[in-house]
Formats: sequence, structure tokens, C-alpha cells
Amino acid sequence: MPEHFDIIIVGGGPAGLTAAIYARRANKSVLVLEKAAVGGQIASSPRVDNFPGLPGISGAELADRLFEQASGLGARLELEEVLELRDGSPKTVVTDYGTYTCGALIYAGGMTHRSLGLAREAELPGVSYCAVCDGAFYQGKDVAVVGGGNTALQDALYLSDLCRQVTLIHRRDQFRGDPILAEALRQRPNVTCLLNTVVDALLGEEVLTGLRLRNTVTGELSELAVSGLFQAVGQLPQTAPAAALLPLDEGGFLPAGESCATSLPGIFVAGDCRTKEIRQLTTACADGSAAALAAIQYLSR
Ligand code: NAP
Repeated sequence: MPEHFDIIIVGGGPAGLTAAIYARRANKSVLVLEKAAVGGQIASSPRVDNFPGLPGISGAELADRLFEQASGLGARLELEEVLELRDGSPKTVVTDYGTYTCGALIYAGGMTHRSLGLAREAELPGVSYCAVCDGAFYQGKDVAVVGGGNTALQDALYLSDLCRQVTLIHRRDQFRGDPILAEALRQRPNVTCLLNTVVDALLGEEVLTGLRLRNTVTGELSELAVSGLFQAVGQLPQTAPAAALLPLDEGGFLPAGESCATSLPGIFVAGDCRTKEIRQLTTACADGSAAALAAIQYLSR
């Protein structure tokens, strides 16, 4: 017999862990399934300044605290990849390790990094998606960051404290990220911003040694010598395996309203993978609480 829980939460990011906290406080048995590391995307953020009450906390510490709060209340967390979800009574969750059942399911799969689609991007040493994880390998070296959102701006700031020279490459003439971060970058003497520029190719045989760049206005090609490239060009929703049960919207997100209820009774979607206007840490946590309260109500029907 598969082990049974009142609520299974797929995803151990801020949405999933907030849901776990709420569900445990209502005394429901809770299993959180996370395929990688707790905290989701926020765990790789060097500094979080917009989470109320905890200005300046590192993403890793915030992730740790969320996990400790959820597990301290009795939520169980397993590092397993969810392969299949089955609706029914009970609902079934199949992972790479085993099978579980539950009365209600909260899917909080979050987002994963978008890639640039360059040849050898996935295998060439020197290409990274996480400045906090890999930045220390490039101490005193020249690196580039690609992207114009808050992740790219924050990564460039973080790397400018470690690296000799940081070049921020953005495809448009304006950053998408917060002006306060862009201004902070302008104050850094070792940061150069290349606007209207895209990366055309990765250079280097065994490891990354440089980039071929293209100016999007003039078409001019140039080369930039770097040891590391940090890609920060946005996120894509992680909807598999929920997408096998539920429809996706045109952007690939899982439709659910503010209560996080989906078209399937007892299945809820929370956090960045849900169709919504604002994707922030705070709105992910808000979704986690809404989904848990809706799941608790569903279980008491
Ligand atoms: P984002 O805001 O979607 O920005 C992605 C950037 O990558 C954009 O500037 C985009 O250019 C560029 N881009 C996309 N595809 C590209 C391609 N193929 N080639 C070149 N450039 C490409 O993503 P994000 O920076 O990861 O942020 C995601 C969300 O998390 C945002 O809401 C952000 O505010 C939030 N966030 C918050 C914090 C925090 O501290 N609270 C930290 C990080 C992120 P265009 O601008 O031209 O579209």
C-alpha cells in the first residue's frame, strides 16, 4: 500500500513551503516532494531586499528558514522527482523513488531557467545559470552576464565584488529590472553594460574563452574574452507532470484563480507556475497559503 498523506505538495520553493506551513498548522499530514534543493529559484538569489521584515537576507538563508519552519511543524520533505500525477480518490503521486497517495494535491513546481539556445551551451565549462553557486570559481577573472531583468542586474552586482571585470549584455536599450539596481551597477567601476547586444556564439574548445557578440542595431560582430558566462534571461514554468492532467494557458502556465483551485477538485496550483499577473516571492507565498487553506477546506467537505 502506498503511504498516504492528507496533502502532498509538489515543489519545495516558497509557495510549496508556505503551503506546508499552513497545512501543518491545520494538523494535516503533509509530504513535500522536491526534485532538486529546497527554496526554488530564490535559493540562488544573492540578496533579497523585498521580502517584508527580512531586508538583505540571502536567498539561501531564506530558503533554509522556510524549510526549518515547515519541517519544525512536522511537514515531511523528500528529495524525489515527481514523474506522474493521477487524479481520483485518493490522488496518486508517482516519483522516481516510489508511489504516494493523498486527499488533496498542491502543485507548486515553480519555474526553471530559460536557455539561450546556443551551440554547446549545456556542456561547455564556463557557462552557468547561478552566480551565487558558481561565482567563486571566477574570482579575479573576467565574466559576462546576459539578460536585463532583476536576476541579471543582481548577478552582475554580485559578481562585480568577486571578478575583475563584469560585462552585462542585454538585447534591448533599456533594462527590464528595477532602476535602483541599474543605478547601483552604473556606480561600479568594473562593470560595463553592452546594450542592444546579443551573444551569437560561445568561443573556446575545451572551456569557454570568449563570446561572439552581435549588435542588434548595426549587425556589427565583435568578440569579448571571458572565462565565465552567467545566463539570466528569464524563467519558464515547470509544469510537467501536472500538464498531463491540466490544461496550460498560451504562456505554458497552469490556469487557476486566486484560490489556486484548478478545474480538477482537490488539485491546486500555487506559485510562479500558475497563471497570474505578478510573479514575486511574496505572491508565491500568498499562493501557498491560499492553496493550503483551499485544500484544507476541500478535505473537510
Ligand atoms: P525577467 O524579468 O523575465 O528578465 C529576463 C531578461 O532576459 C529580460 O531582460 C529579457 O529581455 C532577457 N531575455 C529573454 N530571452 C532572451 C534571449 N533569448 N536573449 C537575450 N535576452 C533574453 O527574468 P528574471 O530577471 O529572471 O526575473 C524573473 C522575476 O523574478 C521577475 O519578476 C523579477 O523581478 C523577479 N526577481 C526578483 C528578485 C528579487 O530580489 N526580489 C531577484 C531576481 C528576480 P527583454 O527585457 O528584452 O524581454
